[in-house]
This record gives sequence, C-alpha cells and structure tokens, in this order.
Amino acid sequence: MSYDKENLFAKILRGEIPCHKVFEDDEVLAFMDIFPQSNGHTLVIPKTDAANLFEIEPEWLARLAVKTQKVAKAVQAALEPDGVRIMQFNGAAAGQTVFHIHFHIIPKWQGEALGKHGGDGRADDAELAALARTIAEKL
Ligand code: 5GP
Repeated sequence: MSYDKENLFAKILRGEIPCHKVFEDDEVLAFMDIFPQSNGHTLVIPKTDAANLFEIEPEWLARLAVKTQKVAKAVQAALEPDGVRIMQFNGAAAGQTVFHIHFHIIPKWQGEALGKHGGDGRADDAELAALARTIAEKL
C-alpha cells in the first residue's frame, strides 16, 4: 500500500487540521480522538510516513510503542479507568479508516460498554480540550 501524504493524520501532523494535543516530541504526536469510544480515547501517531504495521520501519515501531506506553500511563494516572485497551488496525477490512499508523489508547470502566469504532458522534471540543490538559498534566 502506498502512503498518501494527504491522509487526515498527515494533515494533523503538518498542522493543517487542528487537534487537541496531549503530547508531542520529535518522534510522535498524541491527541484526542474526536469520535471517542470512551472518555479519554487518545491516539498516538509517529512522525514517519507509514500507513500501517507492515510498512513502518521496526525502529519507528519501537519508538511508537514506547511513546504509546508513556501516554497510556498518563491516561491511566489522569482518569483512573479500570482498564485500558490498546488497539491498532491494519487495512480497511480490519477497520482502519485513517491510513497513517496509529495506536488507540481507550480507557475502559467496568460495566460501561465502549462506543462504536469511529462512529458514536463527535465529542464536545471544550471537553476534549479539558481531557487533553488533564492527561498532559500527568506526563
Ligand atoms: P482507525 O479507524 O484508522 O483505526 O482510527 C482512526 C480514528 O480517527 C478513529 O477512531 C476516528 O474516530 C478518528 N478520527 C476521525 N476523524 C478525526 C479527526 O478529524 N480528528 C481526530 N482527532 N480524530 C479523528
């Protein structure tokens, strides 16, 4: 699969589309999912052109995994969910909708069902901004 530089997350990385930023360094950007499956649903994307798990350089995958752990720890500390689901999709048939590799960090509370992947409505921007700040404070 060829990498499309006009994909949504490439645009977010270039600052062409805004996001509620949680964390950024020279390797990754982490930001709130605007169609969250639970309160605090965060995405982590690498600053390298790779559509999926099969195309990313192993060194970049390692960096992405380490930074995903860092952000997940902050989500855990900030929101104190009962569990945290990490998800990653490869290919439309598997549910991938944005073709720049990313990890989903999805807090899970006992007894609360997760929303549909990419589909339960757009979250309120003020709430997302507050969540991003709360998580960022734990980094
Ligand atoms: P995928 O389906 O590729 O695994 O994940 C893409 C994610 O991007 C979905 O969870 C979807 O809710 C999220 N998403 C779609 N459009 C936007 C957007 O404009 N901004 C942000 N922050 N997330 C988005």
